[in-house]
Amino acid sequence: MPAIVTRVTHSCVLLDFDGRQVLTDPWFSEKPGYRRGEPLAFTPVDLPRLTAVVASHDHYDHFDLNAFAAYPHKDVPFIVKTGMGVKARKAGFTNVIESDPWDGVTVDGLRVTATPARHGVPENTYVIQGADTTVFFGADTLRIPDLDEIATRFPAIDLALLPVNGLAIRPAFNRRVVMTAEQAAELCGVLRPAIAVPIHYAFTAGRWGDRLFLSYNGTPDRFARAVPRFAPDTAVHVLAPGEPLLTS
Ligand SMILES: [Zn+2]
Repeated sequence: MPAIVTRVTHSCVLLDFDGRQVLTDPWFSEKPGYRRGEPLAFTPVDLPRLTAVVASHDHYDHFDLNAFAAYPHKDVPFIVKTGMGVKARKAGFTNVIESDPWDGVTVDGLRVTATPARHGVPENTYVIQGADTTVFFGADTLRIPDLDEIATRFPAIDLALLPVNGLAIRPAFNRRVVMTAEQAAELCGVLRPAIAVPIHYAFTAGRWGDRLFLSYNGTPDRFARAVPRFAPDTAVHVLAPGEPLLTS
């Protein structure tokens, strides 16, 4: 059975592996300086029963525990980067698994493997595998050479979820913290997924926040235009929040 992917918002994505549901990078609220810039497809209480949750790093827009604490089934396996466990347990989650690249855990027949990332704070990306489907979740990492090893270990990726907004921090001399749209397309050339879905692009810090603190270098359109140069066999689908896509 193929998987069904539905973006919730930003990097928060729901993956349905034949009825077993995995949520990535929970983000369900907003605050000044952190605007989704797109709808929110589900609230925590609207979510289906989850088989697992993966969280890449401890930034509010990827690890929104205050809001996600409303999810009722606190015994869901919650796979996080090493160091994030304390906060997840404090929010009431009872089955928290810390991980680093190449650590793997099997949950109800799904295999979750932590994979490399770099972002300014400790971060994992993840490969999530059902019986017939392999998904790479790129969170909001930079394009680092370490990501190439994913293609060696997982040579048949069905779906890659890749950040594309090239976020940089202005006060830190425009230090880039997220890959650009073209870098995400180049990564597609390495991972060769059947399908690529861009994530992490509608976010805004608000008019003044964007002007003062952030700069962006990438859109879903730019990603879609660049992918054929690097990965002519990869199909790009730009998904609105709540719009489901079958992975094959
Ligand atoms: Zn972040």
